[in-house]
Amino acid sequence: MIINFKCKGCNQEFDCEMGKIGINDQTFRPDFEKPNFCPRCGERGLDDVLLTELGQSQMTEATKDA
Ligand SMILES: [Zn+2]
Repeated sequence: MIINFKCKGCNQEFDCEMGKIGINDQTFRPDFEKPNFCPRCGERGLDDVLLTELGQSQMTEATKDA
């Protein structure tokens, strides 16, 4: 599943293939199969990026069957 993010480091939006996406039962945060990777900054943690509006609708789509 490709999700659109905005990197807090370089302020650029990018698409990232995150693999399978679930929601963590304990934290209710998304669980991604693959690491988040900004094309400019390299690997980023979940706190280093923001979901764009497009990313949010992609997340809703990705997790609605979970
Ligand atoms: Zn970046």
